[in-house]
Amino acid sequence: MLSCKKAIELMSEGMDHKLPFWRRLSLRLHVAMCHHCPRYARQIRSLDLAVRQHYSADPSRTTTEPLARTDLERIKALLREAASKSEPQKDS
Ligand SMILES: [Zn+2]
Repeated sequence: MLSCKKAIELMSEGMDHKLPFWRRLSLRLHVAMCHHCPRYARQIRSLDLAVRQHYSADPSRTTTEPLARTDLERIKALLREAASKSEPQKDS
Protein backbone atom coordinates (compact mmCIF):
# COMPACT_ATOMS: atom_id res chain seq x y z
CA MET A 1 0.00 0.00 0.00
CA LEU A 2 1.13 3.57 -0.71
CA SER A 3 2.38 5.73 2.13
CA CYS A 4 0.26 8.78 3.00
CA LYS A 5 3.12 10.99 1.79
CA LYS A 6 3.09 9.30 -1.62
CA ALA A 7 -0.72 9.42 -1.74
CA ILE A 8 -0.66 13.18 -1.14
CA GLU A 9 1.95 13.62 -3.87
CA LEU A 10 -0.28 11.68 -6.28
CA MET A 11 -3.36 13.73 -5.30
CA SER A 12 -1.50 16.95 -6.06
CA GLU A 13 -0.13 15.51 -9.30
CA GLY A 14 -3.64 14.34 -10.24
CA MET A 15 -4.92 17.91 -10.00
CA ASP A 16 -2.44 19.05 -12.64
CA HIS A 17 -2.91 16.18 -15.07
CA LYS A 18 -4.64 12.82 -15.33
CA LEU A 19 -2.66 10.10 -13.57
CA PRO A 20 -1.83 6.84 -15.33
CA PHE A 21 -4.37 4.07 -14.63
CA TRP A 22 -2.27 2.09 -12.08
CA ARG A 23 -1.34 5.19 -10.12
CA ARG A 24 -4.99 6.25 -9.99
CA LEU A 25 -5.97 2.77 -8.84
CA SER A 26 -3.33 2.59 -6.10
CA LEU A 27 -4.30 6.08 -4.92
CA ARG A 28 -7.99 5.13 -4.75
CA LEU A 29 -7.16 1.96 -2.83
CA HIS A 30 -5.07 3.94 -0.37
CA VAL A 31 -7.76 6.59 0.15
CA ALA A 32 -10.39 3.86 0.62
CA MET A 33 -8.35 2.20 3.39
CA CYS A 34 -6.65 5.20 5.03
CA HIS A 35 -8.08 7.09 7.97
CA HIS A 36 -6.38 10.42 7.20
CA CYS A 37 -6.18 10.85 3.43
CA PRO A 38 -9.93 11.09 2.62
CA ARG A 39 -10.05 14.27 4.71
CA TYR A 40 -7.09 15.75 2.85
CA ALA A 41 -8.61 14.71 -0.49
CA ARG A 42 -11.87 16.52 0.35
CA GLN A 43 -9.98 19.64 1.39
CA ILE A 44 -7.91 19.90 -1.76
CA ARG A 45 -10.99 19.21 -3.92
CA SER A 46 -12.83 22.06 -2.15
CA LEU A 47 -9.84 24.33 -2.62
CA ASP A 48 -9.49 23.38 -6.29
CA LEU A 49 -13.20 24.04 -6.85
CA ALA A 50 -13.06 27.42 -5.10
CA VAL A 51 -10.05 28.50 -7.18
CA ARG A 52 -11.76 27.35 -10.40
CA GLN A 53 -14.91 29.28 -9.47
CA HIS A 54 -12.81 32.34 -8.70
CA TYR A 55 -11.26 32.36 -12.16
CA SER A 56 -14.36 31.27 -14.08
CA ALA A 57 -16.48 33.99 -12.42
CA ASP A 58 -14.39 36.61 -14.21
CA PRO A 59 -12.35 35.34 -17.20
CA SER A 60 -10.30 38.55 -17.20
CA ARG A 61 -8.63 37.40 -13.95
CA THR A 62 -5.22 35.92 -14.38
CA THR A 63 -3.47 33.34 -12.24
CA THR A 64 -0.91 35.97 -11.20
CA GLU A 65 -3.61 38.23 -9.77
CA PRO A 66 -3.95 37.88 -5.99
CA LEU A 67 -7.21 36.41 -4.71
CA ALA A 68 -9.80 38.91 -3.55
CA ARG A 69 -10.40 39.01 0.21
CA THR A 70 -13.95 37.66 -0.24
CA ASP A 71 -12.68 34.71 -2.29
CA LEU A 72 -10.01 33.97 0.30
CA GLU A 73 -12.66 33.95 3.03
CA ARG A 74 -14.84 31.64 0.94
CA ILE A 75 -11.93 29.23 0.44
CA LYS A 76 -11.17 29.26 4.17
CA ALA A 77 -14.84 28.58 4.94
CA LEU A 78 -14.88 25.66 2.49
CA LEU A 79 -11.75 24.19 4.10
CA ARG A 80 -13.23 24.56 7.59
CA GLU A 81 -16.44 22.91 6.38
CA ALA A 82 -14.53 20.02 4.80
CA ALA A 83 -12.48 19.55 7.96
CA SER A 84 -15.55 19.55 10.20
CA LYS A 85 -17.38 17.05 7.98
CA SER A 86 -14.50 14.61 8.06
CA GLU A 87 -14.17 14.58 11.86
CA PRO A 88 -17.42 15.77 13.42
CA GLN A 89 -16.72 14.65 16.99
CA LYS A 90 -13.02 15.58 17.31
CA ASP A 91 -10.71 18.59 16.86
CA SER A 92 -12.95 21.07 18.64
ZN1 LIG B 1 -3.15 7.96 3.87
